[in-house]
Amino acid sequence: MNGVSRETSASLIEEEPPGTGSITGKPDMEPPGKRVSVGRSLFADVAQADWDNWKWHFRNRITTPGELARYIPLSSKEQARLELVTRKYPLAVTPYYLSLIRPHDPHDPIRKQAVPSILEITMGQIGREDPLEERRDSAVPGLVHRYPDRVLMVLTDICPMLCRHCTRKREWHKGCWVRTAAEVEAMLAYIRNHRTVRDVIISGGDPLTLSTHHLEDVISRLRAIEHVDIIRIGTRFPVVLPQRIDDELCTMLGRYGPIWLNTHFNHEREITPEAAAACDRLLRSGIPVNNQSVLLKGVNDTLEAQRRLCQGLLRIKVRPYYLFHCDEVQGTEHLRTPVEAGIKIIEGLRGYTSGLAVPTFVVDLPEGGGKVPLQTNYLVGQREGEILVRNYQGKVFRYRNPGAPARPEPATPATGQTEGTPTPGPVRARVLSQARRRMG
Ligand code: SF4
Repeated sequence: MNGVSRETSASLIEEEPPGTGSITGKPDMEPPGKRVSVGRSLFADVAQADWDNWKWHFRNRITTPGELARYIPLSSKEQARLELVTRKYPLAVTPYYLSLIRPHDPHDPIRKQAVPSILEITMGQIGREDPLEERRDSAVPGLVHRYPDRVLMVLTDICPMLCRHCTRKREWHKGCWVRTAAEVEAMLAYIRNHRTVRDVIISGGDPLTLSTHHLEDVISRLRAIEHVDIIRIGTRFPVVLPQRIDDELCTMLGRYGPIWLNTHFNHEREITPEAAAACDRLLRSGIPVNNQSVLLKGVNDTLEAQRRLCQGLLRIKVRPYYLFHCDEVQGTEHLRTPVEAGIKIIEGLRGYTSGLAVPTFVVDLPEGGGKVPLQTNYLVGQREGEILVRNYQGKVFRYRNPGAPARPEPATPATGQTEGTPTPGPVRARVLSQARRRMG
């Protein structure tokens, strides 16, 4: 479709099942990374060897409301609604991720990411199909070139789970496709011919749905291009099917570094022993792991939820990198928060916990405008030789600006906001009055 040739993916899921075992215990008594898969008991009849095999999970994904009802209590009305939604936006969830859901809690933050909501269609006219206009910026099919020094390669639209907040949910009903050999060669040729491209992001769909052998074919040819400095892989496998991060994959990736891996944890309960072990295997293979979460209503839109997520990630040595405001994609409006919620969360983290645990909050602008960071304005005043800055507690400090003529300490307090002083950004009246008192 859309002029893109497609191959079936069935043959691409190859044999290779290491993985880690699930543990039993009391889920709420332990910190992230030590917690158990709460619903493994739902799959008690599944042999451990199958549970550890990512291909078993992939083959046994839950894709119909009827199957889902075997694990989560659903009234017939709820099932009927799910049938309606999934005609437009299909359902797919791995047994592993389903096992993290608390079946009797309709507001469970894991459930909200995996189980369709009727609001996906009743609010479905709000937003845009392709707000980021990726199609417009496609240099060749599958290759998005928007920023000067980096490109995005979309190798497949197949994902282990269909996340309800996905930016690319417009693609879901088009069937599963994988770029053909000719299409991949066209992408590589474009990169070879554009010497400014030093950073290649391999994404999807989820590129780790491809076999390790298939991935190696693409990565090794990318690595042979002299001006490509780094390769980044965008994948949600460590979160939704961590068994995929096996030794064979890690060893292969380790051969073609520097490779960075960006994953997508949204809630601290996703940081299970299996997920922690997957990230550890990547790190030990020389693959740094960063996290890009999405701010989602009812999932992680409180300061406490974000603090626990970010601190939990640091515990497993994963750096919280971005917190994305949820894009204005049709079918996701019910999960979107006001932008101010994200700014407030970051303000509540900054200074109160390690800077390593504070992601950059960004909006990805429509029409290909790109990512823009948003945060509280800490610069509350400025004049020749100094600036006024407020700290995380709201206290305002003068800071001498090097390079400007040194100003003697005024015998009497300086006057307040003087002529020529740039107007500060939107700061609270309290902070402004403090600033003026300090200046005058
Ligand atoms: S894994 Fe990523 S691309 Fe796939 S459905 Fe989830 S958010 Fe979308």
